[in-house]
This record gives sequence, C-alpha cells and structure tokens, in this order.
Amino acid sequence: MTPAGSLLYADDLHKAYGPTTALDGAAFSVHAGEVVAIMGPSGSGKSTLLHCLAGIVRPDSGSITYQGQELSALPDAARSALRRTEFGFVFQFGQLVPELTCTENVALPLRLNGTKRKEAERRALEWMERLEVAGLGHKRPGEVSGGQGQRVAVARSLVTGPRVLFADEPTGALDSLNGERVMELLTQAARSTNAAVVLVTHEARVAAYSDREVVVRDGKSRDLEHLV
Ligand code: ADP
Repeated sequence: MTPAGSLLYADDLHKAYGPTTALDGAAFSVHAGEVVAIMGPSGSGKSTLLHCLAGIVRPDSGSITYQGQELSALPDAARSALRRTEFGFVFQFGQLVPELTCTENVALPLRLNGTKRKEAERRALEWMERLEVAGLGHKRPGEVSGGQGQRVAVARSLVTGPRVLFADEPTGALDSLNGERVMELLTQAARSTNAAVVLVTHEARVAAYSDREVVVRDGKSRDLEHLV
C-alpha cells in the first residue's frame, strides 16, 4: 500500500543484470515538492533505482506506484506517455541536440507534445529566463559552456511542468562553482512548481540541496520515510 502523501513510492525492488545484482530489496518514496537525494558509492545501484522509478527499466520484482497507480501494470505506451507528460529528466551530460539552438532544445518537449512553435518558444524563453540563460537562445549547445548547457537542460526538463524531475548526477561534469549554481537554480525552479526532485549523486555538497537522503548500498536502500 502507498503511504499517505507519497507521490512516487517503491518497495522491495529487485533487479539483476545476468549474474550482477543491481537492486536487492530497494525502497524509496518522495512527496510532491520534496527534493530527495539518492546517495551511495559507485556501482551501488543508484542509477538503476532512478531508472526503475522513472519507468525506464522494469524491475524483476517489487512494486512502484505513481499517484497510487502501479507502474508495472501499465502497458509500454502508457508508461512512455507518463514519462513525456509527468516526468522530466536531467542527465550528467546535458544531452542537448547539437543541431538545434538552445531555445529550440528547450522547446523540443513541447513541440513533441504538439504545442505550436510560437507558444513553445515563448514558454521555453520563460524557463530560460528563470535559469538565467535567456541570452543564449540563438546559440547552439557547442557554443555555450558546460554550466550554461546544464542550465539549458534543466529548463528543457521543466518546460512541460513535470510532477517529478529525475536528475542523474546533474553536476557530475561541472566544476564546483558551476555545479552549485545549477543545483541552486534547479531546486529553486522545482520548488516554485511543487515538482518532486529525485536526484542521484555521490557528492555530499550536491546532496546538501536536498530535503532528505536515501542511501543505497549493494542494491539495498534505506529510506527512513519507511520507518515513520
Ligand atoms: P550506480 O548508479 O550506483 O553507480 P548502477 O545502478 O549504475 O550503480 O549499477 C549497479 C550495478 O549494476 C553495477 O554493478 C553495474 O555494473 C550493474 N549494471 C547497471 N546497469 C547495467 C546494465 N545495463 N547491464 C549490466 N550491468 C549493469
């Protein structure tokens, strides 16, 4: 059963890749508007947990519910629709489309959802202003710095108004000053829309921006929320 108030909840997740156990009974929960950092050493299962929570990887067993609905019960098409409309993603290396301008990159998720170009670009610019990269609109990703590119990627992840923002080592490729600014702007922006943030990091200074930490070790996670 989903604990009251949880937006996204997982319990007893198991996942193996051949002989490698990636998750071995992991648990997790996040409320709307909450920033939760998934921490742990390299290879402990953090990314696998994030990919399961986001409906990208199917766990071998265990339960994941989003707004009370069991993810594994959804057909693939419904899970991809959910990812497009309710979830946003930021990865370690922005993964912007190099041929598009920064504004076109931010507008892309809206365009894919059928929003008209003018409206999509207007909303893209609004988000770029909030992430302090509005001046870069006409540049291509290859012409901006790593920190600026990540802010463009954060704007792109929030432009559709997701309920959950998944961020996998979003500052992993940045120096500490740029990394902190990205985290500041990311958490501020997410809080302003009451989106939940699920953040994978192995850095304590990045996790410091979260409300709560979930530690993963050997595929097992300790989510103190479960004990409440
Ligand atoms: P972390 O994010 O904490 O570094 P991961 O979730 O990426 O950990 O990986 C957990 C374990 O699962 C590791 O031993 C890793 O090598 C293995 N693993 C993850 N993804 C795959 C995959 N697609 N194929 C095979 N093994 C994988």
